[in-house]
Amino acid sequence: MRARTTIGVDIGGTSVRAGVVDRHGNVLDTARAPTPAGEAALEDAIVSAVTGLLGGRHRVTGVGLAVAGFVTTDRRSVMFAPHLAWRDAPVGDRISKRLGLPVVLEHDANAAVLGEHRFGAARGARVALLVAIGTGIGGGLLLGGELFRGAYGVAPELGHLRLVPGGRACPCGKQGCWERYCSGTALSATAIELLARHPGRSTLLLRDSEDARAITGRKVAAAAREGDQLAQRAMQELARWLGEGLALAADIYDPEVVVIAGGVSESATLFLDDARDHYKKMITGAGFRPLARIRTAQLGDDAALVGAAALAADNC
Ligand SMILES: [Zn+2]
Repeated sequence: MRARTTIGVDIGGTSVRAGVVDRHGNVLDTARAPTPAGEAALEDAIVSAVTGLLGGRHRVTGVGLAVAGFVTTDRRSVMFAPHLAWRDAPVGDRISKRLGLPVVLEHDANAAVLGEHRFGAARGARVALLVAIGTGIGGGLLLGGELFRGAYGVAPELGHLRLVPGGRACPCGKQGCWERYCSGTALSATAIELLARHPGRSTLLLRDSEDARAITGRKVAAAAREGDQLAQRAMQELARWLGEGLALAADIYDPEVVVIAGGVSESATLFLDDARDHYKKMITGAGFRPLARIRTAQLGDDAALVGAAALAADNC
């Protein structure tokens, strides 16, 4: 019996990943393609990934699309996606027509927190916050076990909370946004700043690259793991800002569980204990209130895909 088997598709700026998911959250089969630049090509890539997975092997009842962008409250259209071609696009209806299956859309961080709540690190929590740390920061929030999207489907946009007045410039137009200090991009910026202040202090970061601008967050994490002091200092900075930002978010939402997801979470052993210490110090009423458990995502890369598939199972 394959009832309620659905397909989740995680549509990011780099790749489109589709997976057949059963009702227990198990990913049975996956397909991946690079994200094309144009609108039509992107929809072709999604349709071809899904039909490739179906191919007579699986029978599914619906498709959930996890999109790195703002989705309308009826979950049928994309309003805006900074790294994708869609602008005010009725994506759900178009893909549904081509596949002959019901399609539901969700913001990727919302889908991820839903996946972690059903099958992963946030299981059983009534109030759960997911912070996906990658190129920037994505936020997903469950209140009373339900996704909270705000009045217009945009909440919670945590990455652009201004943590540092007059701080680093952000592509969103503001200065000092949280994700400028706590992301893969931020790790690279911090390491470059530290190198400029302490030339010759790092043995590993510049061995890999003659040009400081080529230092990526991934390189910083690798160097920190190998004992490079400057890279470790950059990780401590990230930990500090993660703790500060989480304390701010916890003052607003008071979550039971915070799930740290995204590419940077793969290096959590390098920063999570420090971040917890900062969080404990910075939260209002420190020492006199229960604290959220801060954990890394259990579903890893699959969280948004599994969450989108679960939404499709609920709605299709
Ligand atoms: Zn910003």
